[in-house]
Amino acid sequence: MNHNGLKALKENLAPEIWTEDQERIAPWLSEWRDKFFGTTPLMVMPRTTQEVAAAVKICAAHKLAILPQGGNTGLVGGSTPQDEVLFSLRKMNRLRDVSAPDQLLIAEAGMTLQAVQDAARGAGLKFPLSLAAQGSCTIGGNLSTNAGGVHVIKYGSAKSLCLGVEAVLADGSIYSDLSRLRKDNTGYDLSRLFLGAEGTLGIITAASLRLVPKPAGILRALVALDGPDAALTLLGRAQGAALAMFEVMPRSALDLVIKYIPDQRDPFDAPHPYYALVDWELSRDDDEARAPYMALLGAALEGGLARDVVIAQSETQAAQLLSLRENMSAAQKHDGGSIKHDISVAVSDVPEFLSRADKLLETMVPDCRPVGFGHMGDGNIHYNVARPVNMNSVTFLSKWDDVQRAVHDLVTDMGGSISAEHGIGTMKKDELHMRADPVKLALMGKVKSALDPDNIMNPRIMI
Ligand SMILES: Cc1cc2nc3c(=O)[nH]c(=O)nc-3n(C[C@H](O)[C@H](O)[C@H](O)COP(=O)(O)OP(=O)(O)OC[C@H]3O[C@@H](n4cnc5c(N)ncnc54)[C@H](O)[C@@H]3O)c2cc1C
Repeated sequence: MNHNGLKALKENLAPEIWTEDQERIAPWLSEWRDKFFGTTPLMVMPRTTQEVAAAVKICAAHKLAILPQGGNTGLVGGSTPQDEVLFSLRKMNRLRDVSAPDQLLIAEAGMTLQAVQDAARGAGLKFPLSLAAQGSCTIGGNLSTNAGGVHVIKYGSAKSLCLGVEAVLADGSIYSDLSRLRKDNTGYDLSRLFLGAEGTLGIITAASLRLVPKPAGILRALVALDGPDAALTLLGRAQGAALAMFEVMPRSALDLVIKYIPDQRDPFDAPHPYYALVDWELSRDDDEARAPYMALLGAALEGGLARDVVIAQSETQAAQLLSLRENMSAAQKHDGGSIKHDISVAVSDVPEFLSRADKLLETMVPDCRPVGFGHMGDGNIHYNVARPVNMNSVTFLSKWDDVQRAVHDLVTDMGGSISAEHGIGTMKKDELHMRADPVKLALMGKVKSALDPDNIMNPRIMI
């Protein structure tokens, strides 16, 4: 432990912005899935960019390792410190600016995603990043992990919604690019270096974010189907500028939500093997605007592609349908051990991936229960494997590395990605280094050592 560095932090920072009280720190040392547990001698809680910069300067002078943390909802071990100084950004939660004519807002890194969405709504616009952890995750974390969520199919991931960032670099200097511009070709787009960097290149303290017009209405439907092939056919028919969400879930996932999450119910009269949750955003909230999508769903029913359809008739019903999908991860947590994969393949390869992965798992762990759900419209499946009912969690989870390796081999064989939206963290670091293009890894190493020569920024994460 670097006692001089810690002493310098405590002596030079305002007492309100640091704590070594382990009881106060404890909630931030383990993450949502209870998979990672950490330690830290000190938590720094800066309120301004200048306070972040001052604290980083001290760490740099003493070569003290830093781990930035937002909402601590990341799922790959990247937000759990192992003796690094924990920099919590949650107090940096001010809205610096919102401009309807420019369709942008400037948010500090610690604003929750939900607060950013609310601020956009307040300006009559929409911030279209949306994911189940939005009440807790922060915009700094979203950008650092290049979060995806349910609207990527129309609006792209966090990266595509960011116009520029303000970040504190490893030497404590402040890089400021809170752009209000839509076009700017003056040199390297350095802000993008920090997007998806998982805190390894600097600490994002604020960001300029692109807003979009609020749709006049949404047509949300839950479509019951035979399986992934039918879902892919439906996706092909549903595609178009209005399609804003296309999520899939097998019956086994719905069963878990209904079993474990209060107030959730099956909206259909009978069970079905597979479901797609679809949103079309409408430019007018009237029957004429809804007509083409109603006709598409009617034809899917008549032609036998869809087994049944529920169309949300109110905002409350729309929220109920979405909550079935959003509670899928939470329900699996209640079900005991589950081995997770966040993978992507080409959209048209999703059914083949699911079929090959299910067969693979059946030979590796007979009677395990694969639950592959998620963002089919982006080719991104959360392929989670639940333990056989007769196997205890500890025995099952001891197979994590073997199962993960086999699923990732399949993904690699299909030209896919082993991390679609959750990032690398510590969990997938070995897998990244084993599989990534050596030229890419070497370039990442050069960027890292150029920006952080003493390797103090999230030193164990990603690279
Ligand atoms: C129920 C649930 C559902 C989820 N659904 C999705 C989903 O649909 N799509 C998706 O993409 N993710 C999803 N996630 C994962 C998670 O919500 C995202 O990764 C989110 O972007 C993390 O934000 P955070 O503020 O919690 O970051 P944290 O967990 O605190 O940190 C994540 C990483 O970013 C770094 N970091 C955090 N803040 C900063 C900063 N200001 N500057 C530099 N580095 C920083 C950390 O060091 C860490 O490496 C889900 C998580 C849960 C629990």
